[in-house]
Amino acid sequence: MSRQIPFSYHCSRCGRCCADMRIQVNPYEVCRLARRLGLTTTHFLARHTVSGVHLATRPDRVCGFLSSAGCAVHPDRPLVCRLYPLARHVTTSGRERFACLLPRPGSPGEFGTAGSVEDYLAANGAEPFLAEADAWLALFGRVHSLFQALLADHSLLAALASDIRLELLQDRPPPASPLLDTDRFAGEHCAALGRVLPADPAEKSLVHRQALEHWLHGLHPQREGLDESLARLVGALGVCLGVNVAALLQDAAETPPGASERDEALRLGAEFL
Ligand code: SF4
Repeated sequence: MSRQIPFSYHCSRCGRCCADMRIQVNPYEVCRLARRLGLTTTHFLARHTVSGVHLATRPDRVCGFLSSAGCAVHPDRPLVCRLYPLARHVTTSGRERFACLLPRPGSPGEFGTAGSVEDYLAANGAEPFLAEADAWLALFGRVHSLFQALLADHSLLAALASDIRLELLQDRPPPASPLLDTDRFAGEHCAALGRVLPADPAEKSLVHRQALEHWLHGLHPQREGLDESLARLVGALGVCLGVNVAALLQDAAETPPGASERDEALRLGAEFL
């Protein structure tokens, strides 16, 4: 579906879409949620996420932010919550398309054609989140390119990537990446430059990407710890953006994925448990 396709959805606030879902959170979304709760991103990631990539759920598999009054972080809810019941797929060339997810069992939400996909995105304040997701996805492309370039000479990197792929295939989260903790990583970057990390989530997210670009640019292939840092970054950043990392890492050392596989691998959308 394109943005012009007729689409509308009336949410009855039943909360069923807040259960049995993996709500991925990228660094921008973490910055917004952490600010809402008055936490640093370091504390937010530790208390409210699984491996820094998904929102934590309660034992009944309901999102930890769902209260009897609805979503407790509604103004800062992540993109997948704003898109629901849509999912957005993005190819490596930047082409987007939307798909409609099946309604949750028992949901009284009503589908219609009173507006368009574009209207639905606007009504749910999705645009800044889409722009951020695309900016982080572009950075992920550069991280993945570097990863691919180093694979041939770094057998440890290939082994770590294979371990991460196995974890994902067994439905376990990837190892957390300290490089995705905005207050810590971008904060240290700013401190080294004698600057103050901005408080605004979008500005903070931009500085975080600049800090990662700086880190990537300054990487020395023989640097100690590079393999683990890079493998963790590929795994965690890809998963928090909704990328099918397991497909990207498939036989990475021997057979770099072709363009069509990568296109299929890059997607953004709600993921059901
Ligand atoms: S963040 Fe809010 S809208 Fe999203 S799943 Fe959790 S409770 Fe539901």
